[in-house]
Amino acid sequence: MPRQLIPHACRTLSFLCVAALTFVLSACGNADAESAASDDRPLVLTTFTVLSDMAENVAGGHLEVKSITKVGAEIHGYEPTPGDIKKASKADLILDNGLNLEVWFSQFLDGLKVPHVVVSAGIDELSITEDAYAGKPNPHAWMSPLNVQIYVENMITAFSALDPQHAGDYRANGDEYKQKLQSIQDELVKELAMLPMNQRALVTCEGAFSYLARDAGLSEKYIWAVNAEQQATPAQIVSAIEYVKANKVPAVFCESTISDAPMRQVVEASGTSFGGTLYVDSLSEANGPVPTYLDLIRHDSAVIIKALTGKNS
Ligand SMILES: [Zn+2]
Repeated sequence: MPRQLIPHACRTLSFLCVAALTFVLSACGNADAESAASDDRPLVLTTFTVLSDMAENVAGGHLEVKSITKVGAEIHGYEPTPGDIKKASKADLILDNGLNLEVWFSQFLDGLKVPHVVVSAGIDELSITEDAYAGKPNPHAWMSPLNVQIYVENMITAFSALDPQHAGDYRANGDEYKQKLQSIQDELVKELAMLPMNQRALVTCEGAFSYLARDAGLSEKYIWAVNAEQQATPAQIVSAIEYVKANKVPAVFCESTISDAPMRQVVEASGTSFGGTLYVDSLSEANGPVPTYLDLIRHDSAVIIKALTGKNS
C-alpha cells in the first residue's frame, strides 16, 4: 500500500485498521508503542498487581490484562500519572477492589468512559476496629482465598459480558482457579492451626490480615489500620509494644510496600524478633518470592508459621 494512501485508508476503513493492520494504525499517528493496537484482544486494567494475576487466571489468554500500579507500589494513596490516564482511556474494562482500598480511584475514573467492576462485591465485609478508620470496611478482602473465589465469580461475569464468545472458557478457567483457591485455603487453615494457642497473635504494620486472621483463628494487632497513613504515631507504637509484651508474642511482621522502621522500634523496645516481610498489597517481580497470588498466600503463611513456632511449615 503506498504510504500516502494510509491516512485516507484510516479515515474510510478505520474498521479494518483496528481489526488487522497494526502497521497502518501506527502510520495513523498513534506513536505510543505501548497503547498501539498491537494486540487486538480486549484490554482489561486492574488497579493493582494482585488483581491482575487473578484476572489472568480467569482470562486464560483471551484478554490483555495489565495493572495500573506497578509491582511494589503503595496502592492505597497512589497518585496516578498522565500516562496511567492515557492507558486507562484505551481500556475496555477496569477492575478495582473497592471497599475504599483505592482512595484515588473515583477521581481517576472521572471523565473516563470506561466501565469498571468492583471485584469484592458480595463478600462478607469486616470492619476496621481501631484508629480513624474504625467502622469502615477493611479493604484487604483478598487476603482470604475464600473471598477471592467471590472475586473470581465477579470476574467471570464481567469477562463474559465483555467477550461473550469466550464465556465458556472464562467459566472453566474460573472454576479451575477456584478449586486451587479452595485447596490453598484448606492448606492455610490446617497449617496455621498448628500454632499453639499462646502463639496465635499476628502483629503487623498494617491491619491487612483481618480476613486471614478470621479464617485461621488468629488474633490480630497492627500499628496502623491502612497504609494510606503510614506514619506511626508514638501512641500506636506504644500500643503495639504493650501488646507484644503482654502476650509474649515471639515475632512481629511488616509488609513489603512500606518501611518496616516503626516495627523495628517495636522489636527493639519489646525484645521480640522481626519475623519477616509479608506480601499483601503487591506481588513481587517475576523472579521474586511471590510472582502470583497463590505464591503470596503460601509465602505469608510459611513466614508466619516459621517465625511464630520456629518450625518450617
Ligand atoms: Zn494495604
